[in-house]
Amino acid sequence: MDVGTVIWVGAGVLMGVFLWKTGIGMLRSLTTPLPPPPPTGELRKVNMRYRCGVCGVELKLTMAPDEDPPPPRHCLEDMDIIAPIYD
Ligand SMILES: [Zn+2]
Repeated sequence: MDVGTVIWVGAGVLMGVFLWKTGIGMLRSLTTPLPPPPPTGELRKVNMRYRCGVCGVELKLTMAPDEDPPPPRHCLEDMDIIAPIYD
C-alpha cells in the first residue's frame, strides 16, 4: 500500500463519516416533532374577520395568542380587518 492509496482510503473514510453525520442530521430534522400548541387557556377567544385585498378571500379568526393579533397574510399582503367584534 503506497502513500497515495492511504490518502484515498482516508479521504473515503472521512467522506463516509461526513455523509453518515449529515444523513443522521437530516433524519433528525425530519423526525423532530412540531412544538405542541400552547394550552388553550393561554389563547384568547377573538372574533375577527379579515379580507384579502388582492383576491378577496375572507376568513374569520376565532382564537389567537392575544386580543390584537397581527393580520394574517394572503397573496403576500397583510389582510385587511373587516370587523373586530368584541363580545
Ligand atoms: Zn389573497
